[in-house]
Amino acid sequence: FSLQVLVIPMSYPALIDGFGRQITYVRLSVTDRCDFRCVYCMSEDMVFLPRQHILSLEELYRLGRVLVSLGVSKIRLTGGEPLIRQNIVWLVEKLANLEGLKELTLTTNGSQLARLAQPLKEAGLSRINISLDSLQSERFSQITRTGKLSEVLAGIEAAQQAGFERIKLNCVVLKGKNDDEILDLVNFIRQNQLDIAFIEEMPLGVITEHQRAETYMSNDEIQQIITQQYPLLAASETTGGPARYYRMMDSQSRVGFISPHSHNFCGSCNRVRVTAEGRLLLCLGNEHSADLKAPLRDFPNDDQPLIDALFNALPLKPERHYFDVNEEPQIVRFMNMTGG
Ligand code: SAM
Ligand code: SF4
Repeated sequence: FSLQVLVIPMSYPALIDGFGRQITYVRLSVTDRCDFRCVYCMSEDMVFLPRQHILSLEELYRLGRVLVSLGVSKIRLTGGEPLIRQNIVWLVEKLANLEGLKELTLTTNGSQLARLAQPLKEAGLSRINISLDSLQSERFSQITRTGKLSEVLAGIEAAQQAGFERIKLNCVVLKGKNDDEILDLVNFIRQNQLDIAFIEEMPLGVITEHQRAETYMSNDEIQQIITQQYPLLAASETTGGPARYYRMMDSQSRVGFISPHSHNFCGSCNRVRVTAEGRLLLCLGNEHSADLKAPLRDFPNDDQPLIDALFNALPLKPERHYFDVNEEPQIVRFMNMTGG
């Protein structure tokens, strides 16, 4: 008889956690720094990390390459403000060329897009989310403390001109601050062929400018306001995340609601975050994390310790998260640290 030898090709296993969820989506924070100081995100006198604590662009690329080799198919670059990181276009180009990466996206405040939209498009960036909380310039400056509305509007236009499609605005609604602009923002996306996602404020970091429980506005309230003018039809798209999307009868634009307080999506959560200093966060709602910087720096020519660190961290991903705006934040880090 003949002995048949089966040759099984070597391939990396996927990153699957203890609840059977495969990690396919990573949000990479490329810097904790920002040119804005949004009132819900940062304090006015933020102290940023010393530069040597932050992953270099080469380290970020290497991490991206290893993650993609383990089955990650979507990476979102965020921050802080990712577009104030020097040579960010280099990183975009390197990541975009990774075989197996299906989508490379970016969340930005838009301030640098007039300058960078075209190079980012040419580098292979797939899509852009732009944060915009107000269409009134004085109010915009109050909310962002240092931002200029005209620059962001020019950035949105530049992104469209560069050929980015399905640009999505992210809007945090704060009761008593910008909740009277909900319909203005919806009309703005309808006129400009954009999408929008309304985000509930999350209790990340201790802020002084307002009491989060007082400004908290639920997505249900926002949805009611929009529905009075534009009936919303549930859209079939799902991101596997905390967003629900709707369409309006007479427009291509989509309206989404991101409810981090709801935990209905935890069961299908496919995402993790990496902070600017290389900490892997398994869930936005708690502090469990694993250090990826040490294996990146200590073993510059060997990916195995980094791969081991990623697999060892998987049991840290909790089944679900807990937030409560009425309690002191359990999460002391700010959103710019975690990469929103
Ligand atoms: N600087 C970029 C920007 O603003 O788009 C990317 C980073 S920012 C932290 C990502 C998103 O998180 C933004 O849309 C911002 O509005 C949102 N964000 C920041 N702090 C938040 C908080 N406490 N609750 C909810 N969303 C928050
Ligand atoms: Fe900067 Fe974005 Fe935070 Fe605003 S939300 S301070 S733009 S990181």
